[in-house]
Amino acid sequence: MHTWFYEKVKERMIRYAKIDTQSQAGSKAVPTTIKQFDLARMLRDELEGIGASDVFLDEKCCVVYAKIPPALSEESGKSGESGKPFGLIAHMDTAPDASGHDVKPWVLENYDGGDIKLNEKDNIIMRADEFRNLRAYIGQDLILTDGTTLLGGDDKASIAAIMTFAEYVLQNPQIPRPMISLAFTPDEEVGGLAKDLDLERLGVPVAYTMDGDHLGWYQDETFNASEAVINITGRSVHTGTAKGIMVNAADIAAKLISMLPENERPQTTEGREGFYHVVSCEAVCEHAKIRLIIRDHDGGRFAGREAFIGKCCEELKKQYGETAVSLQILPTYRNMKEVIDTVPDMIQDLRQAITDAGLAPVCEPFRGGTDGSALSHRGLPCPNLSAGYENAHGRFEYVPIQSMEKNVEILLALARRRAE
Ligand SMILES: [Zn+2]
Repeated sequence: MHTWFYEKVKERMIRYAKIDTQSQAGSKAVPTTIKQFDLARMLRDELEGIGASDVFLDEKCCVVYAKIPPALSEESGKSGESGKPFGLIAHMDTAPDASGHDVKPWVLENYDGGDIKLNEKDNIIMRADEFRNLRAYIGQDLILTDGTTLLGGDDKASIAAIMTFAEYVLQNPQIPRPMISLAFTPDEEVGGLAKDLDLERLGVPVAYTMDGDHLGWYQDETFNASEAVINITGRSVHTGTAKGIMVNAADIAAKLISMLPENERPQTTEGREGFYHVVSCEAVCEHAKIRLIIRDHDGGRFAGREAFIGKCCEELKKQYGETAVSLQILPTYRNMKEVIDTVPDMIQDLRQAITDAGLAPVCEPFRGGTDGSALSHRGLPCPNLSAGYENAHGRFEYVPIQSMEKNVEILLALARRRAE
C-alpha cells in the first residue's frame, strides 16, 4: 500500500525523534550538550550500514559527514562526475524552547480535519481552528507528540528524508547523480551557525541546508543581523539629596529605547521590513545595559540602522557626557542572497526539482538567519529547502509523513538535474 520511501521516512523520523538532542543556549561547551552525540553516532553507524563512503564523525565537534559517490548517467552516457556536486546539511539538535526529553511520537493515519487529542490522560488537544495549517494535510498521515514535548521534526524530518534518499541512491547505482556530500550538524537552534563544519572535508562547492516549515518552500535570502550592546553609566547618591547631582542610568536607558521608531519593531513589521528589537534591558541608577538586535534584508538599510543606533548614543552623550554611554556592535550573520546570486543555477535546479516532484515552489525572504547564512559568507553558497514540519519548537509540532516522502522525491530530482 505505502511506498518504500513512506515506510523508511516514517520509521526513521520516529526513531530519531525518541533521541533527546536538545541544545542549550548560553553553554560554551562544544557541542552545547553532550547528548547530541547519541544521534550523531546512530547516524554514523547507519551511514556505514547503507554503504555511504567517507563516513566520519568528528568526535570533538559532533559533526557527521558522508559522501555518495557519483554515478554514470545511462541516458547521457556521461559520467556523473561531470555533473555539479552538492552538499545536503541538516541539524541534529532540537530547540531549548520545549522539552525534548522522553518524546513519544505516534502516527495519526488519514487525518480527518478535526481536533486531535494528543494526550488522553491530560486532555491535551490540538484544535483545528487554532492550528489552521492542519487543513493542508487532510487525508495525510501525521507524526505527532503526546502534547508534553516537542517532536523534533525540526530538523529530524530532514535527516529522515536525506538518509532515505541516500539509502535509495546507494542501492540504485543506475540513478544518475553527481558526487553528493552529507553533513549533520549540532547546535543550530542556539545560533551555532555550523561554525564547526569543515568545508574542506565536506568537499563540495555548494550545498543546501534542509530546515524550515511548509513543504515545497525554499529560501535564498535571510536577514542581515547584528547585536548592539549599550552600556550606560549613571551617578547614584542618596535620593533625599540628589538634586542636581544624581544621574539615573535607568532613565537614560528608557530614553534610548523610546528613540527607536515604533513602526520598526518585530511586532509591527513583516516581509522585507527590517526592525530593532530590545532583547534585554537591565538597569539600576548606577548602571544600565541594553542589548538590542538589528535586522534588515537590505544591506544598505541595515548599515543605516546600525548608524542610527550610533547617532542615538551620540545624542545621549551630548546630554549626559562623553563617558555616560558606550556602544558596541557585534555582527551576527549576513544575508546569504548576495552570495547565492553568484551561482544562479543552484536555485534554478532547486525550483526545477520541486516542480519535478509535482509541487509549486514557494520562495519567501526568511525573517531570520540559517546556518546557510553563515556558510554562504564562509564561501559555501547555501540556500535552504523546507523540511516540511509544522508548529516547530513546541508541543503541537507535527510532521506529515507524505511531506518527508515528497522531500525524498525532491532530492532525487535535484540529484538527476545536477547530474546532467
Ligand atoms: Zn531547524
